[in-house]
Amino acid sequence: MWIDTHCHLNAPFLSGQLDSVMDQAQKRGVSHIVIPAIDKASFADVSRIAHQYPNCSYALGIHPIYVPDASESDLAALENAVQAAMADPRFVAIGEIGLDFYLPERKTPDAKSKQEYFFAMQLKIAKRYDLPVLLHTLRSVDTVLSFLKRYGIKRGIAHAFNGSIQQALGYINQGLKISFCGTLTYDRAQQRRKLATELPIEAIVVETDSPDLPPYWKAKGENSPTELPQIAEMVAQLRDITPEELAKATTQNAISAIPRLKPLI
Ligand SMILES: [Zn+2]
Repeated sequence: MWIDTHCHLNAPFLSGQLDSVMDQAQKRGVSHIVIPAIDKASFADVSRIAHQYPNCSYALGIHPIYVPDASESDLAALENAVQAAMADPRFVAIGEIGLDFYLPERKTPDAKSKQEYFFAMQLKIAKRYDLPVLLHTLRSVDTVLSFLKRYGIKRGIAHAFNGSIQQALGYINQGLKISFCGTLTYDRAQQRRKLATELPIEAIVVETDSPDLPPYWKAKGENSPTELPQIAEMVAQLRDITPEELAKATTQNAISAIPRLKPLI
């Protein structure tokens, strides 16, 4: 059994065919799916989907790519939503949050400081409610870690991670888990494969980030949680362990990264 620790089931490609996606994923051995929010407008959607199916949970947060359109009132809305959701067993984390310095327009001084402000405020919410964080670290691996240290965040997952071994160990020493997805199925993904092979087994989890980040056998934007077992099998092969061993370890690791998952698994 596998836990997809990061899947955008509320994205149109998946939300339009949820019944069949959930049915197929379950048949393939995906026993639980964590759905992170991306902006204020998605808070209600991720919560609704997580309640619609027995094997889902959700996180609340503002994704760095949506920060340019967000305002202070969105942070207040997040805090209110989190406060209300603490009584909801399906609510498990703050996410998806982080920093994204991939495109030039995302790293102008103004764009950067707005992203960093929103990230810092959301880390404070995570700290206040003692919740783990689901992190986006695109071209921002070192900066995100420095924020985790500054705000005393010691639990969560660095999703779709693509840093060096040293950078990954920095996150692991801080208490975080490192997550792998379909990107490592490509032959050119040497760095990710090295990480998947060499990091301590206690430190890794798996995800699809679907419908984004497809494995090589799926078209762009058409990824789904159904692909998780095949992606994870590649990780097991790299580590020379059985898929069952990896499934057991990554399930335990996901629960340790996101304690509120425990009663749901
Ligand atoms: Zn994501």
